[in-house]
Amino acid sequence: MNNVDRPEFEVAVIGAGFGGIGTGAALRRAGIENFLIIDKWHRVGGTWNANTYPGVAVDVPSPIYNFSFQQRSRWSRFFAPGNEIQRYAEEVVDQQGLRGKLRLGCGAVQARFDEAADLWRVRTTDGDEITARFLVSAVGALEQPKPPAIPGIDSYTGRLMHTARWDHSFDYTGKRVAVIGTGATALQVIPQLAEKVEQLTVYQRTAIWVAPKPDFAMGARSNRALDFPPAQQAVRFIGNVAVNAFLGLGLALSDYPRLTSAVLGSGEAALKAYLFSQIRDPELRRALTPTYRLGCKRPSISNTYFRTYTQPHVDLITDPIEKFTVDGIVTEDGALREFDMVVTATGFQVMDKGATPPYPVHGCGGIELGEFWDRNKYQAYEGVSVPGFPNMFHIFGPYGYAPGSVIPLIEATAAHSARAIKEALRRKATRVEIRRQPHDEYFERMYARNKNTYLFKQGCADSRTYYINYQGDGPAFRATTQAKMYWSNRHFPLDHYRYTTTRAAAVAAHADLAQALIPHS
Ligand SMILES: Cc1cc2nc3c(=O)[nH]c(=O)nc-3n(C[C@H](O)[C@H](O)[C@H](O)COP(=O)(O)OP(=O)(O)OC[C@H]3O[C@@H](n4cnc5c(N)ncnc54)[C@H](O)[C@@H]3O)c2cc1C
Repeated sequence: MNNVDRPEFEVAVIGAGFGGIGTGAALRRAGIENFLIIDKWHRVGGTWNANTYPGVAVDVPSPIYNFSFQQRSRWSRFFAPGNEIQRYAEEVVDQQGLRGKLRLGCGAVQARFDEAADLWRVRTTDGDEITARFLVSAVGALEQPKPPAIPGIDSYTGRLMHTARWDHSFDYTGKRVAVIGTGATALQVIPQLAEKVEQLTVYQRTAIWVAPKPDFAMGARSNRALDFPPAQQAVRFIGNVAVNAFLGLGLALSDYPRLTSAVLGSGEAALKAYLFSQIRDPELRRALTPTYRLGCKRPSISNTYFRTYTQPHVDLITDPIEKFTVDGIVTEDGALREFDMVVTATGFQVMDKGATPPYPVHGCGGIELGEFWDRNKYQAYEGVSVPGFPNMFHIFGPYGYAPGSVIPLIEATAAHSARAIKEALRRKATRVEIRRQPHDEYFERMYARNKNTYLFKQGCADSRTYYINYQGDGPAFRATTQAKMYWSNRHFPLDHYRYTTTRAAAVAAHADLAQALIPHS
């Protein structure tokens, strides 16, 4: 930075996934042009750049997994593969005029709020310091892989890879392969691996609720139908409501326990019937039946997952893993199985200390955000802003996400951030900070609502859901509908924020004015 009080950028956005891209588009719509988006990867798309494992695809219909301001009607499938979603991210970058705002291959390693100058100083992996008045953290929630903590894992000499860091140089055809985990990612990768490997062994700790996937190739006719805006809007609306209901209705209805129980009970019955239609062996069916309530953790969809276990070269192991050896895995019953490759489909560190965000962020008084949340519980007003961390906004923050497609969350929190920044600029404020009272009221309300959901009552103990973090709280979700999330992020009272100007900035502004008033000779 050249000047003590003048940041290089009005806004720095960390992360160029859909969160960062959506933020860039929201900033431009708000008339803010002086911003930079950085990402540690060399391509945009976040999740869809990092996850390239076989079978990766969206599990919400593609016509709703796209931004409302740039809807795409041409998809290869109703549930598009990951590389197509990544390409769509590139299209958005180009069409929204964001290409010139990107600095890729540049990771943030630390962010510090400079209280004297009211700006953020972001240190990066290339040794640079970026200064910006406002900081938007769009680092995602499912971004930092969570390796399994299994004794001996480092001694394993075969190929070991997490699904989010797929090593395409390894050809697994005809090999003995193990998959650890049976969550939403495993569900996609397992049937694909089974097609090529000699032997596939799946280690399951927790079974997953699975529904059939209404997937189909989108031929010319369905794509043309989506070219018709009313059809596209209708699909989008119905799709979003359906996904929100499938993933979040039980949580949003927590004030009505009887109704919730009835909704979940009928959902469970339908999914058990689906499992029955796929697997005849009662032993196998029992092993694949979750012992926790539907909705305790993210259910998923697949037409091939269950059937994969009926193939002779595929084994499902439910004995707990004891340890790795140099060439395989030992379970607690003493069985050693040897593998050429082990895939850890063990998910991500969600609302974990040091993971969200994955670098230290120092606010007022030098307090570090991860420490603050660790001591005081994860919290943020509307999932976006935290007292003591002025001029900073989160796209996927604590208590922000009403389960459903993530795109409506991103559009809501990006709109929130751009609205608060625009208001600060309108008031010529150098600092905008969420006030304690509205923040605390939001946090207390959401905390109580979340704790009142069935996640924290009987029925979910076995689920090991990422909705509940290491503190035993549920900051990864907000127990409201997406409609509520959409509305309150766009219509919060602007005075919930405090807008101030540093003395130094006021003096600088005054000097600018004086300079401008000097008559030219
Ligand atoms: C396998 C998988 C499938 C999914 N399927 C769906 C789905 O079907 N529907 C759905 O709604 N959601 C799905 N999700 C959730 C998905 O993460 C979101 O939909 C969405 O992509 C989140 O976007 P984001 O930008 O918030 O986060 P991300 O996509 O995770 O992007 C975050 C970006 O921040 C960058 N970053 C992180 N740390 C730094 C740093 N220190 N410096 C610079 N850059 C940094 C990362 O490199 C990354 O590019 C899926 C997630 C996964 C993992």
